[in-house]
Amino acid sequence: MRGTFSALRRASILLEAERSRFDLIVTGGGITGAGIALDATVRGLKVLVLDMQDFASGTSSRSTKLIHGGLRYLKQLELKLVAEVGQEREIVHRNAPHLTKPEHMLLPIVKNGSLGKFSSRIGMWMYEWLAGVKKEEWHKVLNRKQTIAAEPLLKQEGLLGGILFYEYRTDDARLTIEVMKEAVERGAKAISYMKVQAFTYKDEKINGLVAEDQLSGKQYTFKADYFVNATGPWVDDLDDLDMKHGAHKLHITKGVHIVVDGKKLPLKQSAYFDTFDKRMIFVIPREGKTYIGTTDTFYKGELSHPKITAEDKAYLLKCVNEFFPGNRLTEEDIESGWAGLRPLVNKPGKGPSEISRKDEMFVSSSGLITIAGGKLTGYRKMAERVVDVVARKMREEKSSKLPPCTTAEIPLAGGKLNGAVDFPVFLKENLIKAAALGIEKSEAKILVYRYGSNIDVILNRIKELQHQQQSIPPIIQAQLEYCMNQEMCLTPSDFFIRRTGALFFNVKLVKTYKDKVFDFMKNYLNWDNGLDEKYKADLETALQEVA
Ligand code: FAD
Repeated sequence: MRGTFSALRRASILLEAERSRFDLIVTGGGITGAGIALDATVRGLKVLVLDMQDFASGTSSRSTKLIHGGLRYLKQLELKLVAEVGQEREIVHRNAPHLTKPEHMLLPIVKNGSLGKFSSRIGMWMYEWLAGVKKEEWHKVLNRKQTIAAEPLLKQEGLLGGILFYEYRTDDARLTIEVMKEAVERGAKAISYMKVQAFTYKDEKINGLVAEDQLSGKQYTFKADYFVNATGPWVDDLDDLDMKHGAHKLHITKGVHIVVDGKKLPLKQSAYFDTFDKRMIFVIPREGKTYIGTTDTFYKGELSHPKITAEDKAYLLKCVNEFFPGNRLTEEDIESGWAGLRPLVNKPGKGPSEISRKDEMFVSSSGLITIAGGKLTGYRKMAERVVDVVARKMREEKSSKLPPCTTAEIPLAGGKLNGAVDFPVFLKENLIKAAALGIEKSEAKILVYRYGSNIDVILNRIKELQHQQQSIPPIIQAQLEYCMNQEMCLTPSDFFIRRTGALFFNVKLVKTYKDKVFDFMKNYLNWDNGLDEKYKADLETALQEVA
C-alpha cells in the first residue's frame, strides 16, 4: 500500500516539486519545519519542505523526549513561557494521545538542594496555575517516608521529602514524522536528503533556492514566494547563504543522554533531581531501559554528528550515582545514548543553562524568515507565529488574506482517536488484538504508542506475514514496510533511529537484524550501486557513536 509519503514515490515527488511554484518553502524538516508546513498547508498555502538529512535527524530526535509543562522555566521566571508550554502540552496530548503519555515524575527535596520544601510548593502551585494543569494531575507533596516508599533507590541521607508531579513522555522523532505526515496528507510536499546550498533572487528578494540531492548528487532549483529558515542548530549557516544575512544569532549547547538497562536502575517512576553543580537531571524509565540526561555545555564543532565524550558519560554517571548510590552504574553499563544540540538565541555573558529557551524570529531584507530557539513542546505555537508573518507579508504585498491558525483542532496522523479521552480504551482493544497474534503485551504496547490510529495496518500485516516464510520477524517486517510506504523511510538508519528509536532503546535488535533489514530495503527500494555502501557506513557510524 503505497501512500503519498512513500519512499517509492520520492523521484516523482521531486520532479513534480521542481516543476511547481510554491507559496512557501521551508528549509529544515525537524519539528519546527514540520509544524510550519502543517499550519501553512491547513491555511491553504502550497508548501515544500526540504531537509538535508532524514526528517528529525537534528535536535528533533535528540531531546529528553518530554512534552514539558515548563516547570524548569519557572526558576528563570519566564512566566509567559511556562503558561504557553503548559497549554500547548494539553493540545499536543489531545491531537497525538499515542505520543504523549502522562507519567509521574518525582522531585526529591534534599537538604541544601536548589529547591526548598516551601519554595518548591509555591513554585508548583504557580506552575500549575500558569500552565493550566488539570486537577487530576495536580502535584502531591510527600513526606520523607512517603518519598522513600515512592522511590526506594533514592539516597536517603539529607532527604527531606518529595513532590510527585506529571510530565508527558513523548517520542520526539515520531512526533516530527507524524506532524510531517499530516502536512503531506493535506497536500504539502516534503523531501528529505535535499540540501539547500544557495538562494536565487529577483530585485534583491529571494525567489527560489538551489538544493543538492544528497542521494544522487544532482542539483535542483525550487521556486516560491516566501522562504522560512527552520534549520535549528544550522540557522546561522543557512542565513549565511542569504546575501542580506544578519549577525549570528545562535549559541549552541550540547545535551547528552545515556541509556542503561532498566534492571541496572529499576526506578518506579521518572525522577528529576539536583546535581552537585546545581543543575537538574532527568532519569526516565522507558521500554525496559532507563535513560539519564542531560548535560549542558557550550559546543563548537560539527553539527550533524555531535559526539558523546568520556567526560559527558563520567558527569552523568557521577550525578546519577550520587542520587541512587545503591545501584552504582559504571561506563560498562551504558548501552546507548545520544547527543543533541540546543539552538539557543545568543545572549552574551550567560551560562549554558541560563540562556532562555524562548524562540525568536528574524526577517532579512531579502525576505528570509528565520525562526530560532524554542522547544519541541511549543512547536505548534512557533509555527503559528511564523505563518502569521507570512500571512502579514501576503496581505501587504499581494492584498491576499489567509485564515487564522486552526492546528489546535487538528489531530495528527496516528492521532485520529477522538481525543485523548478515548486512548485508554483504544489501547486496551488493540492489546487484545495483538495478544491474539501472539504478541507480548510489552511489545504490543510499544507498537500502539508508536503508530496510534495506524496500528491496524501494522497488526493486519503481521497477521499476513505469520503465514509466510520470512527472514525477518513479522513484527519488524510489518513496521519496515509501513515506514517505507507511509513515512518516507529511505535508509536503515531512518528506520532504526528515527522511525522506531531502536538504536537508543533496543540496540541489540539493531545489531541482530541490521543486515537482514539492509537486504530487504535494498530489494524493496531498488538502491543504486554506491548507495548501499553509504547506507551501511551510516548505520555503522551511528552504532559506533552510541557505543
Ligand atoms: P532540528 O530538529 O535540528 O531540525 C533542523 C533541520 O534542518 C535538521 O533536520 C537539518 O538536517 C536541517 N537542515 C539544516 N541545514 C539544512 C540545509 N542547508 N538544507 C536542508 N536542511 C537543512 N524540547 C522539549 O519540548 N522537550 C524536551 O524534553 C527537550 N529536551 C531537549 C534536550 C536536549 C538535549 C536538546 C538539545 C533539546 C531539547 N529540547 C526539548 C528542545 C527541542 O528538542 C528543540 O527545540 C527542537 O527539537 C528543535 O527543532 P528544530 O526543528 O528547530 O531543529
